[in-house]
Amino acid sequence: MDITPIHAFDDNYIWALRKDDNVVVVDPGDAAPVLDYLARTGGTLVAILITHHHSDHIGGISTLLQHASVPVFGPAAERAKITTLTRTLTEGDTVDIAEIDAQFRVIDVGGHTLGHIAYVGLLDGKNTLFCGDTLFAGGCGRIFEGTPEQMHASLSKLAALPSDTCVYCAHEYTQSNLKFALAVEPNNSALQSRIADVAVLRAANKPTLPSTIALELATNPFLRADSPDVITAARTFSKNTSLQTTDEIFAAIRAWKNIF
Ligand SMILES: [Zn+2]
Repeated sequence: MDITPIHAFDDNYIWALRKDDNVVVVDPGDAAPVLDYLARTGGTLVAILITHHHSDHIGGISTLLQHASVPVFGPAAERAKITTLTRTLTEGDTVDIAEIDAQFRVIDVGGHTLGHIAYVGLLDGKNTLFCGDTLFAGGCGRIFEGTPEQMHASLSKLAALPSDTCVYCAHEYTQSNLKFALAVEPNNSALQSRIADVAVLRAANKPTLPSTIALELATNPFLRADSPDVITAARTFSKNTSLQTTDEIFAAIRAWKNIF
C-alpha cells in the first residue's frame, strides 16, 4: 500500500491510496491534479472517500465520475449537500475496498461540519486515520457548524485511537498550527523539537504528514485540555480563572486560535 499526497489548491492534500494500479482518493476537491496523478502513474481510480461537504473536498467528484464510474462514500448526514454520493455512511459502518485490500471503520466527528466523518483503517498492518478537517497536525479545524463541546468530543474519539495511528489530514497547516501551539505551551519540549523537525521538512518543501496520534497527544493543544499549562493559558486568554472542564478549556483555546 502506497499513500501519496496529491497537492490541490494552496494547501490541500488529496490522499491517494494505491495498491498495484488501483487507486482510492480521499476528498478530491479538484479533479485535475487527481487525473494528472492517475495519468502520470498509470493508476486506475476504484473509489472515492469523502469526509465532509466543503467544496475544497468534494469539488472534483463530478469530473472524476465522468472518467470512471466508481463508488463515492461519504457522510449520510451530508447527503443533501453531496449529491454525488453513492454510499452513505454513519458511525460504526465499515467500508470494504477489495481492490486495494483495505477496510475502514467510520467514526462520526461532527463539529467542523455537523456530519463530518473520519475513516479508520488498517492498511498493510498499519493503523491509519483519514480525518479531513477535524484533527490537523498541531491543530484542529474551525468549528463552522457544531459546538465546541461537539468538536472536543470528536477530537477525543480520535485521541483515543492507538497511539501509533498515522494521521492523514487534509491540509498543510502544520507550521502555523505549531506557532499557535507554542504560544499556548512555550515550555513543551516535545513541541519545541517538533517545530524544529517541521521547519526542516517545510524548507525542503516536503509534507509534514502523516502525523501520529502519539505526536498529537504530546504537542497539539486541542488534545491537551487537561494539561496544566494549557489550562493556565486558556484561563489567561479568556480572563476567566473559573474555567474548569476540559470542554471549557478547549473552547477557550479554540476561540484564541480563531483570532491568533
Ligand atoms: Zn472543511
